[in-house]
Amino acid sequence: MVVDTGGVITVSKSKMPSMIERQATAAVEESSAIIFLVDGQAGLTAADVEIADWLRKHYSHKFVILAVNKCESPKKGIMQVSDFWTLGSFSPLPISALSGTGTGELLDLVCSGLDLHEEQDEDYVPAISIVGRPNVGKSSILNALVGEDRTIVSPISGTTRDAIDTEFTGPDGQKFRLIDTAGIRKRAAVASSGSTTEALSVNRAFRAIRRSDVVALVIEAMACITEQDFKIAERIEKEGKGCLIVVNKWDTIPNKNQQSAVYYEQDVREKLRILQWAPIVYATAISGHSVDRVIVAASEVEKERSRRLSTATLNQVVQEALAFKSPPRTRGGKRGRIYYCTQAAIRPPTFVFFVNDANLFPETYRRYMEKQLRKDAGFPGTPIRLLWRNRR
Ligand code: GDP
Repeated sequence: MVVDTGGVITVSKSKMPSMIERQATAAVEESSAIIFLVDGQAGLTAADVEIADWLRKHYSHKFVILAVNKCESPKKGIMQVSDFWTLGSFSPLPISALSGTGTGELLDLVCSGLDLHEEQDEDYVPAISIVGRPNVGKSSILNALVGEDRTIVSPISGTTRDAIDTEFTGPDGQKFRLIDTAGIRKRAAVASSGSTTEALSVNRAFRAIRRSDVVALVIEAMACITEQDFKIAERIEKEGKGCLIVVNKWDTIPNKNQQSAVYYEQDVREKLRILQWAPIVYATAISGHSVDRVIVAASEVEKERSRRLSTATLNQVVQEALAFKSPPRTRGGKRGRIYYCTQAAIRPPTFVFFVNDANLFPETYRRYMEKQLRKDAGFPGTPIRLLWRNRR
């Protein structure tokens, strides 16, 4: 949360302390990091000195960043900030709000001073949705999971909410909020038919995906993977959601043997390449058989999606990947360099690579790095994000 204290420097010097008291004290007190912003074109003023003294006197325990604004040119910026070294105990950082120079560094600096590790949210209950084409067995899975009476939908047109959530606890104790997308389709199917129903169900799936943490994409064992499945898969990846592929009606496959699942998996992987990382669960919803496995797999996916790699482990993986294959050299002989990497977020796991020049890392190399990361650090069931940022 960013608090703007609204310009203490516009106040005349004599009134300043009282203005600071009233305007900025409250904000500074409750802040975890303070950006002390000065004007690099006006140079050092008496007011700056006063504010610096005030910060030092009362808030030496706080994390203060001295940002010198209006330094459009990085070269000139070094000159512009030189004045401000006299403020002592603060290292001036040249930035330009106008051109954006140095604002990335400012953000990094702010973040480095904050404890950004997500607090353990006791109340966090991941949401799971069961999506897929009509008739693949979504309601059957849902019923097997939470009991027959959950999918009752009002038969009166227009009165049904898009989805009705149910909380339940899986066999491993993981709590989930189940987004019910299955029951609703039944009503829509009465009102319309054919392609309209198909289109309706895709849009409904999209809405459910957005609200979910983990998506169980159900496909039917004997049916082909269609454009519709692909669209849903694409959306899951794009929105950074966890995913497991449920191959339902496994009982309908004739003459199954140990190889059946292997062949089947090859086919699914081929057609849903975008979900390479998603675990596959084979289920027979009508017998309730293996439906628990869906939930166990979902909670594993949820754990992966919330997993954090230590910076040390991460950089070890990155260094190894680099040693094995360096970024390609450009025609001009330039080569990308990775300074370090950090995991900036979870759900989905997001990694920031600080590099000399992001343009020196072509798509093929980025994919290589993602593959290595997955190979060494896993993250099955969740998309991961790699961000490439320039750092001078
Ligand atoms: P939904 O439209 O995706 O919610 O699908 P339903 O759950 O309504 O199931 C569609 C049809 O497939 C129903 O007739 C179910 O009895 C049947 N079905 C669901 N799961 C299975 C299964 O595992 N095996 C078989 N053989 N039939 C199933």
